[in-house]
Amino acid sequence: MATMRVRIYGEKVLREKAAEVAGFDESLSRFLDDMVETMMAEDGVGLAATQVGVARRIAVVNREPGNAATLLRLVNPKITATSDETDSVEEGCLSVPGVNGSVVRPVEIELEYQDEKGARHTMKAGPMVARIIQHELDHLDGVLFTDRLSLAKKILIKGKLRELSRRSEGKG
Ligand SMILES: [Zn+2]
Repeated sequence: MATMRVRIYGEKVLREKAAEVAGFDESLSRFLDDMVETMMAEDGVGLAATQVGVARRIAVVNREPGNAATLLRLVNPKITATSDETDSVEEGCLSVPGVNGSVVRPVEIELEYQDEKGARHTMKAGPMVARIIQHELDHLDGVLFTDRLSLAKKILIKGKLRELSRRSEGKG
């Protein structure tokens, strides 16, 4: 396994819409292993493929930090239902270091996804895990949590985002 470089705000791939995965082979499962290793190394609770420069619909989620048995490895994940109930919780992102802010999201979701062998699964997720999954799926559509902040908060972090963009200029 190997860790990959996490792309930072301003790098174009973070704004790409990721493509569906069609081939379920050894290289996909190796890539998933590398994503898990990268997420762990960075102390993240989730990681989307676009964050390591790969515009494919793949994400990993660390449901219980410290318990590798509960890791979610999601290929072509799709939210099929969301609860009416929402809450507002502070989020951060490995790709937007130094920035946090509250995002309103549905508390519960239902999800369809494929595993690394292509088998289809459905699952329900509740508070926190549902939030992490929604955050990661946003990444696969080129959406960052900063896009979902209140206008007032967006104005507050504008300078910080500009600084991150400047630093990532010239990187792929
Ligand atoms: Zn993120």
